[in-house]
This record gives sequence, C-alpha cells and structure tokens, in this order.
Amino acid sequence: MDASLLCTICGIANARRCVTCRSAIYCSVECQQADWRPHRLLCRKFKDLSTANFSTRPSSKHYLAILFPMSTQSPRLVWVDSKEDDIERGYFNPELDSILHIPGHPQYIGRNLLCVRGNSLRGRKTNRDTLNIWYLDHDPIPGLTTNQSIHGTIPTLIGDTWGDFIWKGPLVAVMKVGNEYDPRLLTDMTLTGYRDAIDYLGYYRDTYGSMIDGIGMEAFLAKKILAERATKVMGVRINCLGDQASGQPDMVPVLVPKTHPLFNLEGDDPFSIPDRLKRVWVAKAYGGKPKSDSGGSPNHARHDLENPLARLLLLRTSVKDGKWEGLSPWWHDPKIGSILVVAPRNRHVEVSEVRALCDFIREKVSPLMTEERALTPGGQQEVLAAISEENLAAFVNIKLL
Ligand SMILES: [Zn+2]
Ligand SMILES: [Zn+2]
Repeated sequence: MDASLLCTICGIANARRCVTCRSAIYCSVECQQADWRPHRLLCRKFKDLSTANFSTRPSSKHYLAILFPMSTQSPRLVWVDSKEDDIERGYFNPELDSILHIPGHPQYIGRNLLCVRGNSLRGRKTNRDTLNIWYLDHDPIPGLTTNQSIHGTIPTLIGDTWGDFIWKGPLVAVMKVGNEYDPRLLTDMTLTGYRDAIDYLGYYRDTYGSMIDGIGMEAFLAKKILAERATKVMGVRINCLGDQASGQPDMVPVLVPKTHPLFNLEGDDPFSIPDRLKRVWVAKAYGGKPKSDSGGSPNHARHDLENPLARLLLLRTSVKDGKWEGLSPWWHDPKIGSILVVAPRNRHVEVSEVRALCDFIREKVSPLMTEERALTPGGQQEVLAAISEENLAAFVNIKLL
C-alpha cells in the first residue's frame, strides 16, 4: 500500500498501478473501467517504452509527452526535446516546432499554453506535477482544422466529458516538475496526466476555461456539473462461478464512479424484466477486460465464466419465430463472466433488490416461459402479466415470512 498513489479516476489514496503500463493508478476495477476507453490507446505503448527502460529517449533533455495530432484519430506518445530559456536561466521550454505546425503553412503560428495543476472532477485538487497543454491560435489559419484525435472518432476521445469546445490543430501535453506557479523543469508524462488532459479539454468552455481546474471551476455551471459527476453510486457486481470459486460471494456491492461509461456511453441498453418493474438498470461484463493489481476476472476456463444469476436478470421476454429469445446475442451466452449492474439515473442499486429480482425471475417468471407459451397466442402476454410490482412484492413478502 502506498498512500501517495491516488486513483486516476476518483483520487482515493492507496490505489494501485495498472499492471500493464504501471503509469495510471486505480483504486478498483470499476475506476479502471471508467478510464479504459482512452487509456487502452496508450497503455500498451507506454508499457513497451518502459519495459525497454525508455531507451528510445533521444537524449537526457528529451521527455515523454502526448501528442494529439490534428489529422489522425489517436493520441500518441512522443519524445519532446527541451531547451533552456535564453533569458531566464534554469527555466526549460519544450521544443515544439516540429510538432505544433500545420503542413503547408510555413509562418510561425502563435501558441497558447494551458496550465493544469489539479483535476477536481477526479478528487485530486492539486497534483504533484503540472500539466502543460500547448495548442495553436485558432484565428483563421489556412489548414487548421478540427483535431481528429480528440473529435474524429465515435464515441470521441472526450465523449464521456462535457464536450462543448471544438479543438483545432495539433495539441501537445507535456509535464513539468512541481505545482508552483510556473515550474521550471520538464519531466515525463504519465497516463494520469493523460486523463487530466482529456478532462481539461473535454470540460473546457470558451471564455470560462475548464471546469476541472483554475478559474473555470468557479462558474455556477461548473460547480453543478462537478457536484453531479465527481461522485460514486452503489452498483452490484454479480460474480461468475469462477470468481465465486476464488472465494467471492455471488453478489457484492461496489462503488462506481459517475463518469463510468455505463452512466453515459454504454447506458442505453436496459434489462428486459427489471425494466418492466421500473428498475432501469444497465450492465457491463468484467470478463476479458484489463486487469490491474486490484483484481478483475482472472482468465477463467469456459465453465467458470458461467453466471446463472446474471443469466436470470438478463433474460428477455420477447418471442421470435415461436421461440423465446433468451439473452441478447452480445452476452455471448454462456460465457457471461462477472457483470456490473448500475442504475444510470443516479440511483443506488442494492444487493438485496438484485437478489430478490433474480429469485423472482427464477421461481415465478422463468417457469412460465414454456415452449408451449412461446407458440400460443397470448402466451407471451401471460408471462408479461406475471411480471408485476404486486407479484414481486407478494413474492418478497412470502420469502420474508
Ligand atoms: Zn478510484
Ligand atoms: Zn495501463
């Protein structure tokens, strides 16, 4: 345990490094999932550099930086040279001429610098080091177009942020040592710095600045948005047989950051039966996802990925060609693995209600879903009629007796 290791996503201390890159830091699998979409673009590449002991560093004055290229769709790790300032000795500037330029535009274009000292969305008000983001003047410059690494994909790199400002031209993020007003020395970029850059750019508003740091934090809207998103809600992890075999209970409560993709990018696929009972839940599989020191599903054998409880909850009551449709095809029946269940509309999900619903489906709904009912007119209606709040309440009351 290392108290100085703060979670990249929620800022909790004693978090652990991503086992692949060892650069981003997570307190939980849920926080790791919340970062995974942009993180995966650089995680492996960062690992390749670090396992080679950063031997591709061109000189001791070069530092690792992140380039957000204008015309290609993915950010890149780059080496940036540094040079001592001619006037202020001991102060080093990044050499950005070869990166911050527009093809076919030979004249110098003015540059802007954004200094990011912390990320209040992530509970890290002041970071140890300062992130510097450089970009070109947006004034009419021929060839300066919308940045494709930030805006050019679906969902975009900043798709889980506020996303109201359009960045043009190339951008580069470098790291400076320390968090005083104007740090003098450069250091290598981290993948926590990468997340901070994404948040800063994604929560940037014209004339206000970014909601996550500096004066932009003080605006009314920024306070409202941050108060809403910088929180966690309770979800339920339903463990597959493999995870249960390694000593975990079948269901556990987990805290899920509100910036998790299930609350935004991946949250439009509610369950069929819980939805009829006004429990608007969504789920995500843990299986096959990245691992960190904090755990995650180990590589189970096929059988271990069986998840009977998740299978009940995910059951659909639709009929096609005289047959019950069962699970959605993307759950890759039967290899569901462990799943995370959350309510996208801000509500906590309790283990007890998930369990009650699983029991109800097993005992009162699933037995009605016979071959015969799938074939007979009105058969499906009988099943749907059984899925009512009254029946569920009666079922729960009888169980309590
Ligand atoms: Zn966390
Ligand atoms: Zn990583």
